[in-house]
Amino acid sequence: MQVEKSSLKAALETYPEEALRLLMRYDGAAPRYTSYPPANFFNQDPVLIADPLIRSSNRKDVPGGRDISLYFHVPFCPRRCLFCGCHTEIDRPGDFIKAYMATLSREFSLLAEKLDRSRPVSQIHFGGGTPNAVPSSHLRDLIAQVRATFAVRADAEIALECDPSLILRPQLETLRSIGFNRISFGIQDVNPAVLEAVNRRASKLPPRELVATARELGFTGINLDLICGLPFQTAESFRATVAEIIEAGPDRVSLFPYAHVPWIKSHQTALESLPSPGPGDRVRMCLEAREAFTAAGYEAVGMDHYARPTDELAIAKRDGTLRRNFQGYVTSRAGQVHALGASAISQLQEGYLQNEKNLETYQVRVRAGELPFSGGYRMHPEDLAARDVINALLCQGRADLRALLSERDLNPDWVESYRFESLERLAPYLADGLAEEKDGLVTVTPAGFPLSRRIAAAFDPRQTNVPAEGARYSRTL
Ligand code: SF4
Repeated sequence: MQVEKSSLKAALETYPEEALRLLMRYDGAAPRYTSYPPANFFNQDPVLIADPLIRSSNRKDVPGGRDISLYFHVPFCPRRCLFCGCHTEIDRPGDFIKAYMATLSREFSLLAEKLDRSRPVSQIHFGGGTPNAVPSSHLRDLIAQVRATFAVRADAEIALECDPSLILRPQLETLRSIGFNRISFGIQDVNPAVLEAVNRRASKLPPRELVATARELGFTGINLDLICGLPFQTAESFRATVAEIIEAGPDRVSLFPYAHVPWIKSHQTALESLPSPGPGDRVRMCLEAREAFTAAGYEAVGMDHYARPTDELAIAKRDGTLRRNFQGYVTSRAGQVHALGASAISQLQEGYLQNEKNLETYQVRVRAGELPFSGGYRMHPEDLAARDVINALLCQGRADLRALLSERDLNPDWVESYRFESLERLAPYLADGLAEEKDGLVTVTPAGFPLSRRIAAAFDPRQTNVPAEGARYSRTL
């Protein structure tokens, strides 16, 4: 069946059962492609690859830009949300947190010894976990250490992810005075029944007041996170949540489908006995939200982000510089991401380095004067080319195979077979109007956008043996 291509929502209204059946037929597991290759391939020996990767990030001609982007992982939360897919620890005592933050500082010193000090820092990002659950003096000291070590660009983005149930105006004032200028709040939903079911507390300030206060204090790029697919969410309740978020008027919204991966995060099994929207309902809810955000003046950015037209993210989408990394969609300001903290992953132009996940082992190694890498992956030119294609599909919704595959010094036989095999995997999506291809330009159609990850996977030479129902990755819909 060929789906009406002008709008999937229109298609769902016109042929609801057929259109849904078509999407469901293609549903299945796929990587989120916040990295390529995905993190389960980071199994190379860091002793062999760490120094070459860091050295290449120092090169003056490194293609992704040599600016330093620092990510500090703060893996502590006061309670566990049952949907959580992050590396975090619950209810660790203050002394333990203090010692961990001191270890982060030590790790930064060790890393700085390997970086070219003339490289500017354009981004400092604190994620977690819940960075605003630790005393702000720890965050202040780390920022001061970065400033004392590198030149931080005047327009650098200094950002943190916040749990809004722990924040009132005085905490926002403190964060701003420390130097934070970007902020993201994990709202997830405003419905008390949903929040209670997932063991999460509501924002202390209503979203509208939260955003207005942050804006008044000078934060920009204010982001609110939502999750679709949680227990007790209904089309009606989620519509009300989206309306409240639109009324709050953030600069950006991230609307993530809930990723159910109980084989990795066993606490998620607690959600399985609760009434939850099925994949079809979830698609409808996401599409309705997309319509609502765009009708309210937001631009759709990638698969699941929305931004005001004047926001940097929307500008990056329009000028083709949007990028995808572990933080979702980012601007090209991200440069080379050097990540610190237990489980953190550095994303450098030529590969990835993952830190020890275990908090104790991580700290022992750093205190012994080691950079605590436990694995990683050094990219080949073929990996870089596949990453370019996948990123183009997920960031721009289209990929010009001819242009992207001619940018690198690739073996012509590999290029030919990559193109042939990828288009062969794409063929069913082309036949059903979910993607289009003309003279090597591949486009995800509006009808196909909920399946973007599956369509991108057609261009992933490593995914060919992963069964559609494979349990390694979360489902797409
Ligand atoms: S606040 Fe975030 S990191 Fe912490 S448990 Fe909840 S979802 Fe996970």
